[in-house]
Amino acid sequence: MRFFRIERDGTTSYARASQTDELELLSAAPWAGGSGTGVRLPFPLARGAASVDGPGIRLLAPVDPSKIVCVGRNYAAHAKELGNEVPSEPLLFLKPPTSLLGPDAAIVTPPSSQRVEHEAEIGIVIGTRLKSVDESQALRGIFGVTCLNDVTARDLQRKDVQFTRAKSFDTFCPVGPWIETESALERLTVTGRVNGVVRQSGTVGQMVFPIARLISFISHVMTLEPGDLIATGTPEGVGPLVAGDVVEIEVSGVGVLRNTVTSAAR
Ligand code: ZN
Repeated sequence: MRFFRIERDGTTSYARASQTDELELLSAAPWAGGSGTGVRLPFPLARGAASVDGPGIRLLAPVDPSKIVCVGRNYAAHAKELGNEVPSEPLLFLKPPTSLLGPDAAIVTPPSSQRVEHEAEIGIVIGTRLKSVDESQALRGIFGVTCLNDVTARDLQRKDVQFTRAKSFDTFCPVGPWIETESALERLTVTGRVNGVVRQSGTVGQMVFPIARLISFISHVMTLEPGDLIATGTPEGVGPLVAGDVVEIEVSGVGVLRNTVTSAAR
């Protein structure tokens, strides 16, 4: 099933797609006990239409997490392309929730960076509280899968000792367009395109640390709360984004997250 977060008439709601071309609003986030309200809206995307086009409805990032936990260098070819070794255990960093951006909205490149890059990633949404869990418990704690773009100011990442500034600008975490709860995790692929040209392509099988291991590892560091978001790392092929670009992240069996790029006024 697909789960959405939408804005309609100034009100934000979680929603789920029914079998027909409509959404049903939920009383709360699905991982927080939200149930169907009976309020249904016509929405062609519910069945997988290609573009975000609902009457009077704007799709938001489908999550509102307490934290966004990211994994660096989780594909060997990507570690190599940036001149890094593959880490011996997962390399973690955080993006703030204020970096979240919804489908079709604009990534804003800041004046302080001359090199903003896309990172196509499989996003995992947590469904239950996880603290110090093993790998089988970790898999049971997953709510669903989404598409995520870990936008990065590469020049600032190289300049700073750690990743916080480079990864944290507002709009640097596009997520969506929805969460899919019935994906076969072991078969996921992720593709990144800029202006229709494929730049990145990877599979979960290429991950240095598989998803269950990542979640278990993270849960031994920090408690994962329902609705938290994990960015599982990016395959090789990262590259620049400039104003006017259209960037798409596609995760197989989930959908396509599409965003434009603009530069901040100086
Ligand atoms: Zn990343």
